[in-house]
Amino acid sequence: MKVTYSIIAPIYNEIDNLPELHRRVSEVMKSSGESWEFILVDDGSTDGSTDKIRELAKKDKHVRPVIFARNFGHQVAITAGWDYARGDAVVIIDADLQDPPETILELAKKWKEGYEVVYAVRGEREGESWFKKFTAAMFYRIIYSITDVKIPVDTGDFRLMDRKVVDVLKQMKERHRFPRGMSAWVGFRQIGVTYRRAARVAGVTKYPFSKMLKLALNAITGFSYFPLQLATYFGFASAGISVIAIPVVIYMRIMGSGAFFGQASTLIAVLFFGGVQLISLGVLGEYIGRLYDEAKGRPLYIVREAPEDQK
Ligand code: UDP
Ligand code: MG
Repeated sequence: MKVTYSIIAPIYNEIDNLPELHRRVSEVMKSSGESWEFILVDDGSTDGSTDKIRELAKKDKHVRPVIFARNFGHQVAITAGWDYARGDAVVIIDADLQDPPETILELAKKWKEGYEVVYAVRGEREGESWFKKFTAAMFYRIIYSITDVKIPVDTGDFRLMDRKVVDVLKQMKERHRFPRGMSAWVGFRQIGVTYRRAARVAGVTKYPFSKMLKLALNAITGFSYFPLQLATYFGFASAGISVIAIPVVIYMRIMGSGAFFGQASTLIAVLFFGGVQLISLGVLGEYIGRLYDEAKGRPLYIVREAPEDQK
């Protein structure tokens, strides 16, 4: 079947948002006058969202449910969406309606002008705590400055991608994923469209601090060696300092100075370098753990129910 637009929404316990999400996306897509499908990826919901999705699929043939065997995480749910999408243009949207479905038409306009990745840039953000906004702003800027790929700042996963781009992304099988980085990495013609990020319609965020931290680590380790290089820089810097310090201390001793006598200075140096070494080991561990996960080669996700037409 030929489909122009595939809309993908990852769902994790969004039961109260589903009817409104379906209504608004349907309305917008109907007004586009083109064929579309709505891929709802249930990421191991436990609040009855799964049944709600099945119900929607029964009523509306545009809805194609992908139901996971357990919670695999937002990024993996997006990946499954890419795998099942059949459209010429693929849109990722949050299920909580923080990304207004109406913006899809603006993204589509740019796509028709020939852009292959149209990402939605968060202008204003409503209904989020200062902590969330602050950590998010820091996150985007740190990632931008240390990764090798220029990942647009203040940009989430809400975006439209051409079929060509999605076919490339489907070949990128990395386990610890950062889809916004991946879609910047592939190149193609990219452009941003600014939108107003609304407050959640219902429910609470599914991104506690621990998950945000995990996402940040995926972004950094997935797109840069900076943390590994940091240990090298630090090693050179401290070796350099000691080369200068040794003759200075010898000279001071000869001149009768009592500086650097006693245990305190030794203890501080030992603790300091002990700390630096342990942190460096931890950084190495992060990368090795990721290598190990890749080596195991397990499937990225397990589907309990695929859309009817793909069983
Ligand atoms: N989500 C998911 N799996 C998870 C966590 C979140 O599929 O483990 C979905 C969630 O249902 C929503 C989207 O990812 O559609 C974004 O999550 P959320 O709105 O909680 O994040 P925030 O907007 O607070 O950063
Ligand atoms: Mg949200």
